[in-house]
Amino acid sequence: MFTTNLLSTFSLLAIAVSATPLDESWLQPRDSSVHELFSKRYTPSPSDANFTQNYPAAGSTPPSNGLPQAWLDKLKSITLPDVSVATPNNGYPTYANGETPSDEKICSFTYECTTKEDLYNPGQGIFALSFDDGPTNASPALYDFLAKNNASTAATHFMIGGNILYDPTGMQAAVNAGGHIAVHTWSHQYTTTLSNEGVLGELGWTMQIISDLNGGRIPKYWRPPYGDVDNRVRAIAKGVFGLETVVWNTDSADWAIGSNPQYTHDSVVSQLNTWLTGDKSKGLLLLEHETRDETVSVFETIFPNIAANGWTLKNVADAFNMDWYVNSGRSNSAAITTMSVAANTLAVANVSTSAQQSSTSSSVASVSASTTAQSASTTSGSSASKSQASSSSAATAAAAAASQSGKSSSASNVVIPGYIIAGLGLFTAFFV
Ligand SMILES: [Zn+2]
Repeated sequence: MFTTNLLSTFSLLAIAVSATPLDESWLQPRDSSVHELFSKRYTPSPSDANFTQNYPAAGSTPPSNGLPQAWLDKLKSITLPDVSVATPNNGYPTYANGETPSDEKICSFTYECTTKEDLYNPGQGIFALSFDDGPTNASPALYDFLAKNNASTAATHFMIGGNILYDPTGMQAAVNAGGHIAVHTWSHQYTTTLSNEGVLGELGWTMQIISDLNGGRIPKYWRPPYGDVDNRVRAIAKGVFGLETVVWNTDSADWAIGSNPQYTHDSVVSQLNTWLTGDKSKGLLLLEHETRDETVSVFETIFPNIAANGWTLKNVADAFNMDWYVNSGRSNSAAITTMSVAANTLAVANVSTSAQQSSTSSSVASVSASTTAQSASTTSGSSASKSQASSSSAATAAAAAASQSGKSSSASNVVIPGYIIAGLGLFTAFFV
């Protein structure tokens, strides 16, 4: 199996190389650490029979023994905060030695702790629009609605890597409409309960598939599933991949419709309209979903009230006046730039495992030092509702995994060659 797929992959590489010159705008500069982490590979086409072989199976955390060496090396090069891997606990992961997850050291957003680096208050009068969990069967209707209202480019889509693997053209539809694409991990786990390598795979492979399907543009933002992030996970996201952590300041609770009788279309719309007519000083960054028709319907209902109440609609990147991607500007057609992954924290072009310890520890420490235990100011998430969010989203992920089960089970038998190829850096060797 390995030999067959390896050969077929190299055949495709050969075709790609010989048929037409490579698009130089796609390639990363050779001295960029973006190039180290996400070098140009065979550009997967969703129509290729071998498409799934380029990625891990959907529905579970990618195994650590298949991670590209460049990612592992970069992980070794940073100093992580002394935060233990949390233990799953019905939506509220617990920490070793009874440590308090809301304190500065851990700063778990599950317990409503945020840091100065977290993005969740977009500012006066700005409505930062985002949708989690796509692409799904509900996505096309959302994209049509956004397009009809000239709002496609004002939406950030935090996508699940496994969902993209299952529906790559769904992601491309969002890209082609002009939407901003960001990371919602590979298999929608509580990231604080994952090993360092587990976090690495959840983020890295989602970045890889988004990059592969969007002209080499490397995602710059991620949102933790269930909002479950702590300082260890933040440090990996930022230090290895240069990802900004995005949470929210208001939970729409759209996810609860259908699973909790207290939440209906009308009740959720009513609450959202209350926020829309309320204080604008911190802006609104809502937790919303493109998971189901019901969640999309809520957005469609309140949409006219956003502008009517004087809000300025922007995607998350524009809301914070930042580029859309690590290595590109403010659209899906902007040129690739020479910006490096984690340039602000790791000013190195070449990855090594020991020499960068001292230069990186201070920046990681700053993550911890700047931690504040403030809660997201307008979050509606009481303990009860957050618990419901967890169970609801877990059900969503489980349903997604179930819907992918046929593909996942078959893909699991053939995905290994892609892993090995990426891990050995053979694609890198081909193109550098
Ligand atoms: Zn989610």
